[in-house]
Amino acid sequence: MKTHVKALVVGGGAVGASIACHLAKRGWDTLLLERDELTSGSTWHAAGLLPHFNMSYATTHIHDYSIRFYKGLEAETGLNPGFFVLGNLRMAQSRARMDEYMPYATTAETCGVPFEWLSPDQIKERWPLVRTDDLVGALFHPTDGYINPADVTQAMAKGARQLGATIERKWQVDGYDWTGSEWRVTVTRMAEKGGNLVATDEQAVITAEHVVTATGNHAQRTARLLGIKIPAIPVEHQYIVTEPDPALVEWRNAGNPQHPVLRDADAKWYVREERGGWILGPYERGAPAQFEYGCPDSFRADLFPLDLERIEAEYMSMIHRIPSSEQVGLKDDFNGPICFTPDGNPLLGPAPGLRNMWLAEGFSFGITAAGGAGHYLVQLMAEGEAEIDMGALDPRRFGDWMTTEYAARKNEEAYEHVFILHHPDEERPACRPLRTSPAYDRQKRLGAQFGQVNGWERPNYYGPEDAPDSFDHDARSFRRGGWWHYAEAEARAIRERAGLIDATAFTEHLVRGPGATAFLDWFTCNALPRVGRVNLTYALSSAGTVRPPTARRSACLAASKRAVSRGSSTPFPSRSNRADTAGGFRMISASVTTPSPFASHPATKRPSRL
Ligand SMILES: Cc1cc2nc3c(=O)[nH]c(=O)nc-3n(C[C@H](O)[C@H](O)[C@H](O)COP(=O)(O)OP(=O)(O)OC[C@H]3O[C@@H](n4cnc5c(N)ncnc54)[C@H](O)[C@@H]3O)c2cc1C
Repeated sequence: MKTHVKALVVGGGAVGASIACHLAKRGWDTLLLERDELTSGSTWHAAGLLPHFNMSYATTHIHDYSIRFYKGLEAETGLNPGFFVLGNLRMAQSRARMDEYMPYATTAETCGVPFEWLSPDQIKERWPLVRTDDLVGALFHPTDGYINPADVTQAMAKGARQLGATIERKWQVDGYDWTGSEWRVTVTRMAEKGGNLVATDEQAVITAEHVVTATGNHAQRTARLLGIKIPAIPVEHQYIVTEPDPALVEWRNAGNPQHPVLRDADAKWYVREERGGWILGPYERGAPAQFEYGCPDSFRADLFPLDLERIEAEYMSMIHRIPSSEQVGLKDDFNGPICFTPDGNPLLGPAPGLRNMWLAEGFSFGITAAGGAGHYLVQLMAEGEAEIDMGALDPRRFGDWMTTEYAARKNEEAYEHVFILHHPDEERPACRPLRTSPAYDRQKRLGAQFGQVNGWERPNYYGPEDAPDSFDHDARSFRRGGWWHYAEAEARAIRERAGLIDATAFTEHLVRGPGATAFLDWFTCNALPRVGRVNLTYALSSAGTVRPPTARRSACLAASKRAVSRGSSTPFPSRSNRADTAGGFRMISASVTTPSPFASHPATKRPSRL
């Protein structure tokens, strides 16, 4: 086995295989290690849906890249990944749901993803097996579809090998040490024994300039080995497969194409055809997190028992939507671990505080995202920035305040919220309050309606003092929310009279000494405020953008505190010729701590073993 590489990828699921393939495309000497078999994690039992896009720009770009990439895989590798393009019908049972689809449509338009609006009659005309009398309409994406998860992973692995990458199975990574210039990674040979996978005495050490972890359900073990927190904890996810539905078989035998993937968001499920029957995948309430403190070594390509009671309501609503499915029995079921994160987005980017260590963890749509995740992560690794803004996926968005309990409960919430109405002013209730400022109780008494930012409770606006608990929830809307006139009154008060802003949730940096002003002037993109004033500005990356990882996108309140000394001699090129320089500035940034874009990477300590 190779003992020195430029990049080591840990984990041979869809995500790891794609990253290895894209690293090899860059010409990087790459090794992928898998403790068991390729696809033996969550990848093997995925339903293979490839939703072309969602409401996040970053993930839409990622999904869009994946789809284009998967379409070319057969030509590149000779392996057919089993890609069916049949469209995706997002149905709406209410006007509010149609409102929700408007921002979906604008995201699609911005990212160049085609879509159509359909009325209930148009749906019925195209797909007569679908009941439409209680629908308001639908958003249809013709380029959506599904793929065979194992086949696409094997095709990407073959692509990686063709480009020079090495893939080794039955090697488990057991330790990471940073030497100051590279990672020393201890690996153990795994062997089959009586149906179990066990560690042998054979060990090796591999040195790598860069390491990417894509360890799926084993993320908690990876976190312990690295001495960091990774809030990727799986939740149970089930889907059931029915026997052939005679009405569907007849429809197909008449020469009709497959139904699109049907999504009844109000009923919390997706449905697609499978060999004349249907696959139903619900995002039900009450799905429990699993492996909070680590995935057992004995858990391989295993499944949990089906919990049909938990998905009874969704099952009944499928029968309501597709009446012919009432007559068919169940053929198969899958209940597997699906990784989630507290906000539902994967953790893709630099590991907090560790040099040349990259995380690709917490994928709940890992088959869809794998292609794009590999493409854009490798841009970050090789160029320092990706061409898209990856801020929403940056693993550093969760700080040390995050606990295992928080991650587990929030991940259950994120799962359950997949199909809720996602208002733009959505706030989620689980694990709150977690971090409160000294003024919290007084703010609450005064009617504060809180949002959660970086774990902190922060007043979004002040509503009535005697507001019921449901006030903020009920105030949400896709149009003008019920909070509007309260926010308007506050803005007016601050403009016309005075106001107090609680900045506890902001990170504060004090920059002082000779050169402080020049540094801040260089670091931020607005003119600095006069002494005694504040202004809102951005901190820039070394490329002059507001993208991670070289600088976390951060809006800063730069406040000039007092003139201590003039920042004259400085290594930073000045972007302003202002004369009123002051040596002491306080900078309050609205995001997590930012590594300086012009300093070299922070020296990485050896990760502590927990
Ligand atoms: C029932 C169900 C249906 C799903 N349907 C869909 C769907 O329709 N569409 C979709 O996009 N997603 C779907 N998913 C989610 C999808 O399965 C995952 O997002 C995806 O498989 C994650 O891929 P991965 O490569 O991150 O992780 P995995 O596939 O779990 O791979 C991680 C790999 O890392 C290896 N590993 C871990 N630790 C080490 C170590 N220390 N050393 C070496 N190797 C290690 C593991 O053995 C494993 O093979 C579904 C999930 C479930 C449970």
